[in-house]
Amino acid sequence: MTRGDMETYAIGLGSNRRHARHGDPRRVLLAALAALECDEIEPIDTSPIIASAPLGPSRRRYANAAALVASRLSPPEMLARLKAVEAAFGRRRGQRWSARTLDLDILLWSGGVWSDAALTIPHPAMTQRAFVLAPLASIAATWRHPLTSRTVRQHAMRLRRAKPVDRHVPAF
Ligand code: ATP
Ligand code: CA
Ligand code: CA
Repeated sequence: MTRGDMETYAIGLGSNRRHARHGDPRRVLLAALAALECDEIEPIDTSPIIASAPLGPSRRRYANAAALVASRLSPPEMLARLKAVEAAFGRRRGQRWSARTLDLDILLWSGGVWSDAALTIPHPAMTQRAFVLAPLASIAATWRHPLTSRTVRQHAMRLRRAKPVDRHVPAF
């Protein structure tokens, strides 16, 4: 997945909090996709935005999407750029796993594997997360995970098989 001398990145986008100006999480992601585009980041493709029903006491809605972009930025430079966009959307650090306006992760990179103290590519949790794999499979189904050698589509299907929805458990 290379374009000339550009690398391709798969970026995961998530939001579960409204933004005062942009609105609900879905609109946050649309605005974030527009904000990502710059001289150094060229959009290739964007998945549909998937929205989860509000669950649990917080009743928060999640919106997730994936995007493919072409860039000459190195992985650390791309991460810095993603963090700058998160910050521009009001993301405060120290919000891991909690409500956040915008979360941008590097899922895959055409260069393959990257690992340093601040950055791991492929994203270590991507193969366990349906909300990552489902949108990603719609734009990069045949991209092979460099460590498992399985395609994104295969990972998405494995996850669906591994965690069947149990329709017999009553919803409280
Ligand atoms: P998760 O990584 O489980 O999805 P998160 O996205 O909520 O959790 P953050 O608080 O956004 O976690 O990020 C914590 C740190 O993870 C970042 O500061 C960054 O340095 C590091 N990191 C490591 N690998 C990646 C990656 N592939 N994409 C984005 N951040 C990464
Ligand atoms: Ca994340
Ligand atoms: Ca993140």
